[in-house]
Amino acid sequence: MSQFVRSTTSKYRFGGHVSTAGGISNSVTNAFNIGCNSFAMFLKSPRKWVSPQYTEDEIQKFKDNCKQYGYNPLTDVLPHGQYFINLANPDLEKAEKAYDSLIDDLRRCEQLGVGLYNLHPGSSLKADHQVQLKQLAKYLNKALKETQFVKIVLENMAGTGDLVGSNLEDLRAVIEMIDDKDRIGVCIDTCHAFAAGYDIRTEECFDKFWKLFDETVGLQYLKAIHLNDSKVPLGANRDLHELLGQGFLGLEVFRLIAHSEHLVNIPIILETPQPEPEGYGREIKVLEWLEGKEKDDKEVISKNEALQKQGSKSRQEHEQKFATKQKKSAAKKRKTVVESEDELDKVRKPKRSRKKD
Ligand SMILES: [Zn+2]
Ligand SMILES: [Zn+2]
Repeated sequence: MSQFVRSTTSKYRFGGHVSTAGGISNSVTNAFNIGCNSFAMFLKSPRKWVSPQYTEDEIQKFKDNCKQYGYNPLTDVLPHGQYFINLANPDLEKAEKAYDSLIDDLRRCEQLGVGLYNLHPGSSLKADHQVQLKQLAKYLNKALKETQFVKIVLENMAGTGDLVGSNLEDLRAVIEMIDDKDRIGVCIDTCHAFAAGYDIRTEECFDKFWKLFDETVGLQYLKAIHLNDSKVPLGANRDLHELLGQGFLGLEVFRLIAHSEHLVNIPIILETPQPEPEGYGREIKVLEWLEGKEKDDKEVISKNEALQKQGSKSRQEHEQKFATKQKKSAAKKRKTVVESEDELDKVRKPKRSRKKD
């Protein structure tokens, strides 16, 4: 018996990242049991380079489960790639190893009949960023040629600089270099966007963000959403997920998501730090409840207050940490300015003394 009944009336495909313990086919029942209308999982151990291949039996079981529980693997399942796959790595030996793992992941998707694959775009690791973006696109093009139908969905990141996808321009640059544009897309993670400096907390900011997304990347490329609140403040550049409503985002952005026209018919996947899968079940129900709530609804306001209270200690700690870090980096900047002025002085002084001579 399922504890959380799957909604048949929601306009949105809310779901969570589920476990595959005991076999990939279990992901389907795990998703169903917490009321998911879409779901994510790892295709193999996220921490190992090599994992055993699926058996024919397991593949069939996955497909049968999808049929039985009513998930279309082409559109409702968004597996998550391994975190350490870095196709933008300037160390080519490492990039090749990452490519092998990517191809293995994509083949697994196609064996299961899964149509979407979520990938962190990696890091240029202090090498020339634009050159490494080209390398990434080259590998993606190669991978798409070596496979049949699975779409690669690049995720936006929470960091700065080297980390590919911390800004929307990176995602556009990579997509521009992809030959088969029908097989590339983007997944926006709410926590990553906010931590990277994109404010989405109010209706005005939220609308502005999607306008910017449309202008920069194009809404036609939006293939999925990761739903997370953020443990860190706006622009803190750290990837720390928080439970919905308890972080610096608050509940309003999730209400806006549950009303957004752009987000109908794509997987909307929770990745919040849940101790148990039932936590996703509860959050899915909150999202479906928000779907029927208008702005300034009293129940939403009091629910937000309660959740914010639960998260307040953690937010205070992270706010302090962020403030200390900002102070340090400001001091470092001042020091570099002074040091470079000293350097200039050293260069100037001998000249001056020579002139005097
Ligand atoms: Zn994510
Ligand atoms: Zn994350």
